[in-house]
Amino acid sequence: MENTLDRVYAAIKGLNVKCNIPLSTLTSFRIGGPAAMVLRPRSAEDIRRTIQACSQFGCPYCVLGNGTNVLAPDAGYPGVIIRIDTPMTTPLFVDTTATSPAGTALSVLARDSVANGLMGMETLSGIPGTVGGAVAMNAGAYGAEIRHLIKSVRILKNGRVLDVDTKKSDFGYRESKYAAPGVIVLSATFQLEHDDGQAKQRMLETSRQRKEKQPLSYPSAGSVFKRPNGRFAGALIEGCGLKGFSVGGAQVSPLHAGFIVNTGNATERDVLELISIIQQRVFDDSGVRLEREVKLLSEL
Ligand SMILES: Cc1cc2nc3c(=O)[nH]c(=O)nc-3n(C[C@H](O)[C@H](O)[C@H](O)COP(=O)(O)OP(=O)(O)OC[C@H]3O[C@@H](n4cnc5c(N)ncnc54)[C@H](O)[C@@H]3O)c2cc1C
Repeated sequence: MENTLDRVYAAIKGLNVKCNIPLSTLTSFRIGGPAAMVLRPRSAEDIRRTIQACSQFGCPYCVLGNGTNVLAPDAGYPGVIIRIDTPMTTPLFVDTTATSPAGTALSVLARDSVANGLMGMETLSGIPGTVGGAVAMNAGAYGAEIRHLIKSVRILKNGRVLDVDTKKSDFGYRESKYAAPGVIVLSATFQLEHDDGQAKQRMLETSRQRKEKQPLSYPSAGSVFKRPNGRFAGALIEGCGLKGFSVGGAQVSPLHAGFIVNTGNATERDVLELISIIQQRVFDDSGVRLEREVKLLSEL
């Protein structure tokens, strides 16, 4: 692998690349060993060149935004992480549409939309990911979801930049076809509405609710499980008496049982073991199979 990495490094020399970066610094769970290389692209061309080099030399690569929905391996990652967490341009507002680069924080886009007299994004403002990550995950909160707002995306696929009008069927619950390997979201355009005068208030209210109900002072990846049909994962987990239950440094949050928090020194192994205990106990107790929402970096 060393030879492969050297070749990739030589091919992308001059780009914004760093070596041996702990994944714990790139993910909100604060878990994970070293990534061999991390590229912070300044342009779509940087991404294209990097993917081409990885493909040519057989080096694994994957895309991360803010790393707020990802559990990274303790052993690290032997390839290139393409980290799109910095906007390449500023969001553009035209009439009631907003076009944003993938690396913009969703919170910034929501805040700027409200500042531009638009509504639709405000209840998504507390989601700590990027616009690219939100599109890939079809992020949603308090009744709003990316799929209800998105109009089109600019993606990089097979070395080509494509503008695609999105369809509702491109998205499912916390998933989309834009999270597929080899598809990179470069920017997205959203159809918003004129503010009804309450958008700022709704944004403040959702922020207040998050601070009250979510364990924001501990590292986590948000809700670990998808919401089962007609039920709430947190309530099912709490119903099994697992609130506060720990494996190593991974704990079912005593504040919100849908979250696993890192109490200091959690490993990927701790979290995976805790996830499987929760899934088994909830199934035994209620017959519901909880499906993981948090992605494993090794699966990207
Ligand atoms: C405290 C907390 C609260 C949260 N609350 C919510 C919530 O209310 N609702 C909700 O839906 N989620 C929530 N999340 C989860 C997470 O913030 C969202 O899933 C978010 O959309 C992930 O964005 P990200 O940039 O961090 O993506 P990452 O975690 O970096 O990546 C997630 C997936 O998106 C892909 N991806 C990222 N960027 C791109 C890109 N540019 N092109 C293609 N694929 C890409 C990755 O490959 C990966 O498959 C929460 C997380 C935390 C820590």
